[in-house]
Amino acid sequence: MTSKRIGILGAMPEEIIGVVALLKNKEEIVKGMRTYYIGTINEIDVVVVFSRWGKVASATTVTHLIVEFGITQLIFTGVAGGISSEVSIGDIVIASSLVQHDLDARPIMKRFEIPLLGETILSPPKNILDWAVESINNLIRNDDLIRLISLKQQKTFSLSSPKVVVGQIASGDQFFSNNEEKKNLLSMLPEVLCVEMEGAAVAQVCFEYKIPYVIIRTISDEANENSIVDFNEFVTQVASKFGVAIVQKLIQ
Ligand code: SAH
Repeated sequence: MTSKRIGILGAMPEEIIGVVALLKNKEEIVKGMRTYYIGTINEIDVVVVFSRWGKVASATTVTHLIVEFGITQLIFTGVAGGISSEVSIGDIVIASSLVQHDLDARPIMKRFEIPLLGETILSPPKNILDWAVESINNLIRNDDLIRLISLKQQKTFSLSSPKVVVGQIASGDQFFSNNEEKKNLLSMLPEVLCVEMEGAAVAQVCFEYKIPYVIIRTISDEANENSIVDFNEFVTQVASKFGVAIVQKLIQ
């Protein structure tokens, strides 16, 4: 039997720094422009790494975690642009399904179909999803997330009570920064809650290697003309803190 080892893949360097600070018996291995931090959190073996951005980079990083470090589960955290009117900045989206919105091999296969898998949408195993939803809902119920943010920052980002929303995430090699792109995506994929650049690629690798995974995103912007203004401040001041608290809660 293989022993449990959790891969923690983060799309924000700021968050990785916070998670690495939680590690005991820390070791570092540098390979392929990535630094893998190996250690334990609450006596559980973990490997923490910055995914790098985009589908190719994140798929490569997760493959390395599986093949070289033998992870048995994966937790992915990062930020995303809100697409659905159901989500607001500061909300946490947990993927129950993921789609690569830029995958289009028509006419040889259906739009969004992953070549050779015959699937368009991938979903994490139900048990890991339910466990993540329950754990993060607990964090929210106890105000453990909002408490990490000063009142001034709560005001700056109009944060009051972040909520957990479970649903579809779309990924692709594109940063969404206008309403046209947003509308266009929704007309093709009406169930999408948010967009980002890694999740569905990571899900594909985990599916192929049979590694249970969960993809968790804090909404950092509204994927419109304000995206770039909202983004950097929010990542450093809010999302990275949420990410560390989420990882800490999940690794128990
Ligand atoms: N901080 C970087 C940019 C990061 S790239 C810089 O300043 O150069 C964008 C990251 O945020 C990716 O991890 C992506 O998954 C996520 N993301 C957040 N909002 C997004 C949006 N509106 N569209 C696409 N990806 C988004």
